[in-house]
Amino acid sequence: MAENEVFARTLGLTEPWYVESVVFDNKKRQVDIYLAYRSGARFPCPECGEMCPVHDTKTRTWKHLYFFQYPTYIHAKIPRVKCEQDEHGIRMVKIPWSRPKSRFSEAFEMFLVILCTEMSVSAAAAMAGIHHNSAWRILHHHVAQARSRQDLSGLRKVGVDEASVKKGHNYVSVFCDIDRPRVVDVEDGRDSSTITRFKDWVKDKARTDPRVDPEKIKQFCCDMSPAYVLGIGRAFPEAEITFDRYHVLAVVNQALDMVRRQERATNQAKRDLLKHTRYLWLKNPTNLTKKQTSWLEDIKSMDLKTARAYHLKTALQRLWEHTDPAQAEKYLKKWYFWATHSRLGPMVQAARTVKRHWDGILQFIQSHISNGIIEGLINKIRTAMKRAYGFKKTKYLKTIIYLVAGDLDLPTPEDFAQLQLPTQS
Ligand SMILES: [Zn+2]
Repeated sequence: MAENEVFARTLGLTEPWYVESVVFDNKKRQVDIYLAYRSGARFPCPECGEMCPVHDTKTRTWKHLYFFQYPTYIHAKIPRVKCEQDEHGIRMVKIPWSRPKSRFSEAFEMFLVILCTEMSVSAAAAMAGIHHNSAWRILHHHVAQARSRQDLSGLRKVGVDEASVKKGHNYVSVFCDIDRPRVVDVEDGRDSSTITRFKDWVKDKARTDPRVDPEKIKQFCCDMSPAYVLGIGRAFPEAEITFDRYHVLAVVNQALDMVRRQERATNQAKRDLLKHTRYLWLKNPTNLTKKQTSWLEDIKSMDLKTARAYHLKTALQRLWEHTDPAQAEKYLKKWYFWATHSRLGPMVQAARTVKRHWDGILQFIQSHISNGIIEGLINKIRTAMKRAYGFKKTKYLKTIIYLVAGDLDLPTPEDFAQLQLPTQS
């Protein structure tokens, strides 16, 4: 009887349920746990909670955790009750060890979700001994549940960026809560309607939680893509846009690289001078070795167009050190004048891009927001997206993104350990 008690605890059984027997099937090499309920027991109607007598039963089986190396199955006759309020008809009762319609025990699903946080879903499915489609269904369900419980009352500043499984395929837009770095929503595509769908999602959330309000979202951070700008302007007309500084600098970095390539092509002497220097110009100086630093020191004082472009880049970087908006704007005007008079074609182009996004770039001085805060999340997502390879629908990609970057309340190994260890009573 004592071992039955242990099994009952790992299943979270409560009266009137009990473990009738545990059988090791030597032929099938599996463990079968038979559950039963005390005769004459009444069960609550799943709709209204009214205690009702059993109408009939349905025999069902669930896959449970492995017991040592043996697959374990739970068997039970599940009662259906006829609601005594006479309003809800004949209903299957709720059971403590599994959620409705699942063929797996709650503990098994918990175990699978934990595995998925550590490895690809296919690998987790293989380890748990189930088909990957079943594993995905379990994961989709638990991630969706955890998302529905997510507290979004503090959502004020949103960073949006795009992600794709493979370049050019299945783009999604990732919406992050900048104040509490986490992904809150992922929507298909990366056009202006993507922002509208995000707003619809927030409105939907507001229906169940009155503390959530799309009007409270006053700040957006994004790249300079016209689609996002248009979408934000339409869906959140009150919100200010800050162009993410990394995206702004990326534009100037591209121009710098273009200048270097053009200059290399002019003559052999320049070609030799600029050989193997791409990294020096583009990387953050703090990421250079001692040798590279002194090389850069030498080369940047030479009469090179690339060196001039480099000075323009570092000068623009200093814009984000400003704290006073008026001073910052004065500084950016000077930079713009200098860049447009540099006679460096790609830099002139980059300066014009800056001009077109003037207010959103300067907005940083007041908002202090950048997607750099969520860069860590995006990197996590990039690594994890490999887990959704081969699954074409964005549904899979979204589930993985929420799993790794959503900061969701999902089962942890600690919860699982508690479930396994019978508590003292
Ligand atoms: Zn009822």
